[in-house]
Amino acid sequence: MSYDIRTQARLAAQQLAQVGLSRDLLEYFGVDREVIELYSRKEHPRWGQQRQSKSMAWLRGPEAVYVVRAYRIFVMLFSRNANFEKPVTIVDLWDWYEVYSLIYPEDVVTAGRLWGIFQKVLDKTLVAQSCKECGHPYLVHVEDYALQTCSICLLAKKQRRKKR
Ligand SMILES: [Zn+2]
Repeated sequence: MSYDIRTQARLAAQQLAQVGLSRDLLEYFGVDREVIELYSRKEHPRWGQQRQSKSMAWLRGPEAVYVVRAYRIFVMLFSRNANFEKPVTIVDLWDWYEVYSLIYPEDVVTAGRLWGIFQKVLDKTLVAQSCKECGHPYLVHVEDYALQTCSICLLAKKQRRKKR
């Protein structure tokens, strides 16, 4: 069964609203007012749970691993948009979030945060490079560009050190 683009976008919007994508972002994507209102009712338990974080701290702390995972999933799903040249649609955002959640269900990553990563690449706060340890591409905060090692390899190193 294949849906037309409008239907796909509506389904993605409903799913994202259900997992608590912020009202601002739903409006940004032009989601129908009725869908937004449906999930923004106070009694909806999940509403507001996944507000986009305004803090940049998680991008540079231990949660930097999430950024690398998110980026690698993005590149895997949208290889032709690996450099984020095309805008991420609401359907892309849902696919990205859904795949991330399936692979790493215990990570505290929200669709709003994924969207935030995309924005940080566009404004060049996050830059892509290859890790000199594992050779895989990753995103790093522009101020940490000289590091040349992805946060997943850094974390693995730290854990090895702890075990000794
Ligand atoms: Zn690495």
